[in-house]
Amino acid sequence: MASEHADLPQERRLVTEIPGPRSRALQERRTAAVAQGVGSSLPVYVVRASGGIVEDVDGNRLIDFGSGIAVTNVGNANPRVVARASEQLARFTHTCFMINPYEGYVDVCEALNRITPGDHEKRSILVNSGAEAVENAVKIARHATGRQAVVVFDHAYHGRTNLTMALTARNMPYKQGFGPFAGEVYRMPMAYPFRWPTGPDNCGPEAAAQAIDLITTQIGPENVAAVLIEPIQGEGGFIVPGEGFLPALVEFCRKHGIVFIADEIQTGFARTGRLFACEHEGIVPDLITTAKGIAGGLPLAAVTGRAELMDAVHGGGLGGTYGGNPVACAAALAALETIEQDNLVERARAIGDVLLSRLRALAERYDIIGDVRGRGAMVAMELVAGAGDKTPNPEALASVVKYCHAKGLILLTAGTYGNVIRLLPPLVISDALLDEGLTIIEEAFAQL
Ligand SMILES: *Cc1c(COP(=O)(O)O)cnc(C)c1O
Repeated sequence: MASEHADLPQERRLVTEIPGPRSRALQERRTAAVAQGVGSSLPVYVVRASGGIVEDVDGNRLIDFGSGIAVTNVGNANPRVVARASEQLARFTHTCFMINPYEGYVDVCEALNRITPGDHEKRSILVNSGAEAVENAVKIARHATGRQAVVVFDHAYHGRTNLTMALTARNMPYKQGFGPFAGEVYRMPMAYPFRWPTGPDNCGPEAAAQAIDLITTQIGPENVAAVLIEPIQGEGGFIVPGEGFLPALVEFCRKHGIVFIADEIQTGFARTGRLFACEHEGIVPDLITTAKGIAGGLPLAAVTGRAELMDAVHGGGLGGTYGGNPVACAAALAALETIEQDNLVERARAIGDVLLSRLRALAERYDIIGDVRGRGAMVAMELVAGAGDKTPNPEALASVVKYCHAKGLILLTAGTYGNVIRLLPPLVISDALLDEGLTIIEEAFAQL
């Protein structure tokens, strides 16, 4: 079955200002109906989307450099996802896996056990959101080790539920006014090469030594259940840790019986030019959390890990009403098949080469681009005051993003200091749209 939307022309088209009149009318209704705590960075209301294009209610067609935050890696309304999910939708929509199980759930767990790093025996569980996956990974690590402390890092983002707020670093907007937060969470310095005091080359080993010293002197490794980290930080600003940082942490964890949890919710499923970002440094996590790119846009998330850890929890200790919904499982199987059959890992690498070379050339011309970084189709620019002055520059960022939005380019931001532009195009975007989107970004800097 072909997707109804697969014929959406892959061309940017602006027929009104952005947002247009219909979007503005909807925004008025929304303001009266939806709590303002839920924001939208670009309030154009969507009617359909596929490939690299999102079409709005006014008939504008925007270039998508966001993928709904690294979710639609295989493209929106991907034909395989639509076909398999529709077929499942017509057969049955829900039984609750904890009452009557079904094959799709088992298929997805088998696939995750097969494709995640490491060839040890694994088990998986399926849940609904990234935050829920992280919460469950911590539950499993605590139960399996009989320990309580959880180590996290500066600039980390792990979600918006109570425990994951505590695990997340940034106060505004994620934590402000939402306390009290969960206990036994300890934050360590992050190996952030661009801002490491002694320079990027020393960053990995020095940051690892600091973290290990702090864990040893302030917590005691024997009290630590888990070290939890994003192998490339997402919301924190696409921070690729200094080389050697992750392997040193993994080694320390192994030595002390600490569960190493890789949060690959944003980095997973081909995004970084590998199936999982851990593979770039050859590290094998004990547990891995996945979500976003897993099911082509349907809500699904997972914890996958060492069988002896995952099976340590008593029957009934894990689960949830909707976890591993059959329609979401069907979508996940289609998304995984698409990643493998359409070589999206290689495509992510090719997209990354284009993004990095164009943005590095741009950084040569504009001093306010302090850093260009990332892996595969997960690339960011950090904006600063100027040459030799790394003061964050959120004002320039706001101006660039405003220009791009007005030209019909969906562009996302990130970073603790609100000064990072992040690029997350769908992996099925055409070369032409990729080129056009980058040209709009170049124009945005020219008009500053
Ligand atoms: C998005 C994200 C989460 C939270 O996922 P939700 O599905 O929004 O709950 C957790 N960790 C990372 C690294 C993320 O990018």
